[in-house]
Amino acid sequence: MNPEEKINALRKELHEHNYRYYVLDSPVISDYEFDMKLKELQALEEANPQFRDSSSPTMRVGGEVTKNFNTVAHEHRMYSLDNSYSREELADWVQRIHRILGETRVEYTCELKYDGASISLTYENGHLLQALTRGDGFQGDDVTTNVKTIRSVPLQLRGDFPPKFEIRGEIILPLAGFEKMNELRVKEGEDPYMNPRNTASGSLKLQDSALVAERPLDCLLYALVGRDLGASTHFELLNKAREWGFKIPQEAELCKSLDEVFAFLDHWDIHRHELPYETDGVVIKVNQLQQQEELGYTAKSPRWAIAYKFKTEQAITTLEKITYQVGRTGAITPVANLKPVLLAGTTVKRASLHNADQIAKLDIREGDTVMVEKGGEIIPKIVGVDLSKRPQDSEPTTYIDTCPECHTPLERKEGEAQHFCPNSTGCPPQITGRIHHFISRKAMDIEGLGAETVELLFKEGLIRNYADLYTLTKEQVVPLERMADKSAENLIHGIAESVKIPFERVLFALGIRYVGETVAKVLARAYKNIDALMEASEESLTQVNEIGGRIAESVVSFFKEEKNREIIERLRNYGLKFSLSEEQLQNQTDRLKGKTLVVSGVFENLERTELKKLIEDNGGKVSSSISSKTSYLVAGNNMGPSKRTKAESLGVPIISEGEFMDLIK
Ligand code: AMP
Ligand code: ZN
Repeated sequence: MNPEEKINALRKELHEHNYRYYVLDSPVISDYEFDMKLKELQALEEANPQFRDSSSPTMRVGGEVTKNFNTVAHEHRMYSLDNSYSREELADWVQRIHRILGETRVEYTCELKYDGASISLTYENGHLLQALTRGDGFQGDDVTTNVKTIRSVPLQLRGDFPPKFEIRGEIILPLAGFEKMNELRVKEGEDPYMNPRNTASGSLKLQDSALVAERPLDCLLYALVGRDLGASTHFELLNKAREWGFKIPQEAELCKSLDEVFAFLDHWDIHRHELPYETDGVVIKVNQLQQQEELGYTAKSPRWAIAYKFKTEQAITTLEKITYQVGRTGAITPVANLKPVLLAGTTVKRASLHNADQIAKLDIREGDTVMVEKGGEIIPKIVGVDLSKRPQDSEPTTYIDTCPECHTPLERKEGEAQHFCPNSTGCPPQITGRIHHFISRKAMDIEGLGAETVELLFKEGLIRNYADLYTLTKEQVVPLERMADKSAENLIHGIAESVKIPFERVLFALGIRYVGETVAKVLARAYKNIDALMEASEESLTQVNEIGGRIAESVVSFFKEEKNREIIERLRNYGLKFSLSEEQLQNQTDRLKGKTLVVSGVFENLERTELKKLIEDNGGKVSSSISSKTSYLVAGNNMGPSKRTKAESLGVPIISEGEFMDLIK
C-alpha cells in the first residue's frame, strides 16, 4: 500500500471504530488498539501533508484555536418550542391540530427533551461542513472546530445519505462525565461546575479546541432539515439518520394516539432518572411531514411540535439546622441540614442557602417545613417554606456575625453578597486550605501527603501553617491514624525533597490571592528574588507586563502582613528557594522579550519542559495555542497536523529545535 492508500484505509477503519464505540456503544477493539491506530494515522498525515483532510479522525484531537467565533445566518431558522405543563394542555394542543388539519388520524413521534446546547450541523457530500449554535434563531456562532472534537458527531457519513442537509440536536454532557470532570476540578482546588447544561454550552465557546476534546461531550440529534430527504415521516427520518451514523437516542417512539403519548410520559416521568443524561421533558411532534408543512409555524415555534415539561421534583422535609461553612478564602456559605428525604432518586441531607440575603428573603428558620428542589445543580436548593407548619416557638434566623470556626467577627464588603472571616492566619479551614494549595501538584508537589493527612496533622497540632511541615519528624507522624512506617518515611522524604522546587513555584505555593501559576512566573522573572518582591510598591508592580492593579494590591498587602514575613523567613531557613538559581539568572536574557511561542511535538535533544523553560528564561511567553499573536511555532516530530495547518494559514513561522537554539544564542 502506498501512503495515500494506507491513510485512507486507516481513516475508514477509525471512523468505523469511532462509530461503533460512541454511537452504537459496542466497540470491537480495545482503547489501546484504537489509540495506536490513531497515532499511526497522525504520523502518516504528518509525513504526507498533501493528503490533509478536514474530516480525518485526527481532527478529534483538537488543537485549533478560535479567537472570535464568526456569526453566521442560519439557512433555516431555528425555532423554539411551545411548552405544556399538564395533560390537559397537551390534549388541547392535539385538538387544535385535529381542527386545523381537519382530520383525527394523526400520529406523533415522542422524544425525550435533551437538556444541553442546541446545535445545527450542515453536511455536504457526507462531510461535516459547519456547526452553528442556535444564537437568536436567525443567526448563530460557527463552532465547527470545537464540534469536530466531539466523538459522537460523525465527520464522515455512511450509507445512503442526501448530498446536502442540516441536522439538529443538542450538545450535552452526560452525567457520569460531568461528575468525573468535577471530581478532577475539586482535586485541583477549583470550584465544581454548577450544572451539565451550562458546562456543555460553555464548552462550545472555548477558544482552544484541544480543551473541548478533553471534555466528555456528546451530541444527540432530533431533527433533519432540507429538501428530498427520502422519507415522509419524522420517525423514518430519525431511523435513516441513525443509519448514516448519527446518534439518535433509541428512546424515541412512534405513538398512534394521545393515549400512547400519555403512556410515554408516564414511563419516562419515572424512568428518566435512569438515563445517562439529563432530561426535563418530552417533545411531541406530528409525525407526517406533509401535515407538519400544513400546520406551519407561529412567530416563535412550530405548530406541529410541543414540549411537555416534567414537574421539577420537589420534596418536603424539615430543616433541622443551619450551619456555616468557611472556604479557604474565608468566604462563608450557609448550609441547610435537612431531615433526610428522597428526591429524584437520591437521599438529600443538605441544601445550599447561598447567603444571608437569601435566608432573609425566604424567611427560612430552623424547624421549618421546607420545599427542596433539584434543578440542574448538584446541590439541591430550598425554594419555599410551608408557613402553616411553622412551630409556635419559631424564631427568625439571625445570621452569624462571628466565624463558626474561629469566632472572629465577620466582614461583608460593600456590594458583596458573601460574608468573610478576615482571620486568614488563624482560622482553621483557611489554614488547611492554604496548606492544601501549598502541597498541590503545580505548587510544591509534595509526594506522600494527601488532603486527609493534612487535616490529621493539623488536628493533632503538628502543623499550624505550611512552614511547620518542614519541622515534622518521622516519630511525630508514625502514631497517626492509618500511617504505616513506610508511608511516614515517604512523607518526610517528600517534604525534604520539596526544597528543590524552583522559586517561581514556591511563590505560587505561598497562596497569595490572584497570584496563579503564570503570574508567579512573571513576578519571579521580574524581581528575581523574594526580597526585591517584598519591597516592591504597587506602582512598581503595575509597571511589570501583565500585572494589573488588583494583583499588585494583593501582593503588597500579603507582604505587609508580619505573620507572612515570618513564615517566609522560616521557609528560607529550611532551604526553600527564594531566588532564581544562578543558572536561571545566567541563562536569563531578553532575546525573546515580547514574543509568544507555541511548542508542539517531540524533540531530539530537549524535553518539552526544558524547551518551555528556555523560552521563559529568555523572556518569551509559552502559549498552548496558535493565534495571529504567535511569534513562532517550534515544531518537533509527530506534531499534530492541525497545529501546522493553523500556523501556515496564519503565517506564523514554523521553526525547528535547531533554529530555536540559534534564536536564543
Ligand atoms: P426551550 O429552550 O425550552 O424553548 O426548548 C426548545 C429547545 O429544546 C429546542 O430549541 C431544542 O434545542 C431543544 N430540544 C431538546 N430535545 C429536543 C427534541 N427531542 N426535539 C426538539 N427539540 C429539542
Ligand atoms: Zn474564621
